Order: sequence, then C-alpha cells, then structure tokens
Amino acid sequence: MDFDYGEAAEKFRIEFRNWLEDNLDPDWRDRVGDINLDNPAAGADHPWLREWDRRLYDAGYKGIAWPEEHGGRGMSLLEQVVFHEELVAAGAPVVANFLAETLLGPTIIRWGSEAQKERFLGPILRGEEFWCQGFSEPNAGSDLASLATRAVRDGDEWVVSGQKVWTTNAQFADYCFCLARTDPDAAPHKGISFLLVPMKQPGVTVRPLLQPTNTDEFNEVFFDEARCPAANVVGGENNGWAVAMTTLGFERGSSVTTQFLTYERELSEIVESARARGLLADPVVRRDLAAAHTKVAIMRANAYRTLTALTTAGADLDEAGSGFHPSLNKLFWSEYHQWVTNLAVNLRGPEALVVGDGYRVTSQQFAFLFARSETIWGGTSQVQRNIVGERLLGLPKEPKPEKNTQR
Ligand SMILES: Cc1cc2nc3c(=O)[nH]c(=O)nc-3n(C[C@H](O)[C@H](O)[C@H](O)COP(=O)(O)OP(=O)(O)OC[C@H]3O[C@@H](n4cnc5c(N)ncnc54)[C@H](O)[C@@H]3O)c2cc1C
Repeated sequence: MDFDYGEAAEKFRIEFRNWLEDNLDPDWRDRVGDINLDNPAAGADHPWLREWDRRLYDAGYKGIAWPEEHGGRGMSLLEQVVFHEELVAAGAPVVANFLAETLLGPTIIRWGSEAQKERFLGPILRGEEFWCQGFSEPNAGSDLASLATRAVRDGDEWVVSGQKVWTTNAQFADYCFCLARTDPDAAPHKGISFLLVPMKQPGVTVRPLLQPTNTDEFNEVFFDEARCPAANVVGGENNGWAVAMTTLGFERGSSVTTQFLTYERELSEIVESARARGLLADPVVRRDLAAAHTKVAIMRANAYRTLTALTTAGADLDEAGSGFHPSLNKLFWSEYHQWVTNLAVNLRGPEALVVGDGYRVTSQQFAFLFARSETIWGGTSQVQRNIVGERLLGLPKEPKPEKNTQR
C-alpha cells in the first residue's frame, strides 16, 4: 500500500480546503445527517442546499473526475478522493442532486449518445435539472428483473405505464432515470430499456411516503401513459439491464475513503457522550467502544486496499470491483452502522428516545432511524450474503423459488 497521494492531489487538497474555509457558511457545517430536519416538506429541495451546489459549480468544484469536454475538471481518481475527503472533514452538506451527479451522470458518460451527453450532463452539473431513480417496484426490488412497468413505442415517443416505489426525491424531480419493459416477450433481463422520463407531465403522479425520521425522502410514483421522447433511451433499446448494472455499480462503490472518515467523526461523538455520562470506566462500554473503533479501522484499511487497487489498475473510481469486494463492503458498513447507532442510543440513555415538539428528531435520532434502511437500499444484506457466498466463496447457488402462477 502506498499512502502518499502525490504532489498534484495534495496541492489540490490545500486549494480546496482554503476555498471551503471561505465559502462554507458556519451554520451549514455538520448538517450532513439532518438535511431535512429544518423543514421536512422541503427536503432535498431546500434552498440552502441548492445554493451550496451553485457555489461549488461556480467555483469549478463539480464533476471533479468528469472529462473536461463534459463540463468536468478532468482530474484524476486521487483528486476526486481528496475532494470528498475534504468535504467530510469540513462537515459540508451532501449535494442536493446526488442521484444525478453520482449515478446518472457517470452512466450517461459511459453509455449515452453524443446528443444525450450534450443535452443532459451540463444541467446536471449546474443543478438546473433534478433527478430521481425509478428502478424498484412493489413486486420488483431485490429481483429487479421482474419489473412490470411497460413502455410502448408510439411514433417518436414511448408511452410509459406502471408503478415505481421507494423513489427518493421524486417529489422534486424534473426527470426520472427509469427502467421499463420494452419487449414483453423477451427473457426478463433482455426486454428492459433505460429511459429518461420527464416527471412534470399529466401522466405522472407522485405520492410522498412518510418515514420514521418524519421526512418523506421517498415516494410512490405512478406512470399512467406518461410520454417520453423516443431518443431518451440510454445504451440502446432492450439493453437497459446492462446499463442499470453500471448504475448500480456506481451506487455501491462511490465512497471509497469517505465512509470511514464519516464514521470516525460519528464515533468520536459517541465516545464524548459516553464520557459526559461518566461511562468510560465501565468495562462493557469500553469493550463495545473498542469493537466500534476496530470496525472503523477495518473499514479504513479496506478503503485503502480498494484505492490502491484502483489506482494501480488505472480503473474508474466507482468501479470498486477490485480490492475489497463491493458486496462485502456494503454488508460491513451497513451492518456496522445499525449496530453502532443502537450502541449510541444505549449510551445516551432515556433521553435518546425523546422526540422534540412536532416530532422533530435530532441528528443522532435521524442516524439511528435511517440506519434501519441502510441494510435494504443498494441491495439488502441477505442479497449481499448470497453474492458473497456464491461468487467469492464458491458455494452452491440458492435454489430459485417456483413462480407463483395463481392470480
Ligand atoms: C431509504 C431507501 C431509499 C430508496 N431509494 C430508492 C430509489 O431512489 N429508487 C429505487 O428504485 N429504489 C429505491 N429504494 C429501494 C431499494 O432498492 C429496495 O428496497 C431494495 O432493492 C429491496 O427491495 P424490496 O424493498 O422490494 O425488498 P424485497 O426484494 O421484496 O425483499 C424483502 C426481503 O426478502 C429478502 N430477500 C429477497 N430476495 C432474497 C434472496 N434471493 N435471498 C434471501 N433473501 C432475499 C430481502 O433481503 C428482504 O429482507 C430505496 C430503499 C430505501 C430503503
């Protein structure tokens, strides 16, 4: 392992750190975990979050590793890593349009036509068009290939009908990157297309779903003969499965070194709350905090393993297939986070359970509640264990359940 990021990356670190010092408003710091708390109804559309995105864009800090011809900085993997590390270290907020910046933009760069790159990448970086991800459906989550939303060609448009669910930020979205069945006669993986569907039209209904955090970050989305330009198919008609796998790869591998940095910060706050309650001499508490420290250290080591593998192979940052396997990574961090937020509630005592007027949760309560969802989104723990068992350990494949044909 080589822990030296090199001269160019360290120079960029100082430049960006200085910029953050001057441009990140003090009351925007450390609002990473509670972006929706001030006004749950506004959520990701919160004006201060949009303002933060604009400041980053105006200063040239959007699309750090995107090619220059697509409006990015054209920098290396290491500079992108440094960029994210400095954001976490400064307590900067997450970006408002993160699904577009981290998932869709890189997917379009990889699979999109020149016309699609020209049309969509600029507005994503400038934060002018807001996006949501329409993959999951009521009967298609882990088994995504069984999705039933259909798109039928009508002249120079697709007509889209069906239901999506758990669609983060759909209530704010101008567009949805959506999987729809375009060939009902083909095998499940083969008849799917990856469409860019406009959301602000009569055929689209969005119903927010309230979560235990008192935020409605995800929604039900109903397409009822919604219209989508024929040209908005990414990667070719009926090739949506391959495109979607690229997108999901970005979802699992997008935060190579920042995750353990976030957890280090969180753990030091948990240690402080234990200290404030006089619990640090308790042997059981010491054992649990030592275990938490060890787990974060394991994440740190694995992050550097992955980073080293990626830089050595010259691979894309988000293709974290080399180094530490993405499924092991997802399993490890999501299970850790549920466990450590349980520990934090236990250490903080009864007041950890008290919610403020109007059901306003604190950022610690938000972390505890939202951690429940982290073993689900991006691939559930059970599914990650199947992947680890079958692909890494070479265990026999799980038997496929027989399809229920009763109606
Ligand atoms: C906070 C949050 C945000 C989300 N945002 C989005 C979004 O923006 N866009 C989007 O498209 N989706 C989104 N999702 C949906 C997410 O991708 C799905 O919830 C996930 O894929 C699981 O699908 P499911 O909920 O249908 O559960 P199911 O697939 O029905 O699973 C139910 C249970 O069965 C288990 N199970 C399923 N298959 C197997 C198997 N083969 N072996 C063993 N156990 C199995 C699962 O582990 C789980 O415990 C979001 C989810 C959450 C929680």
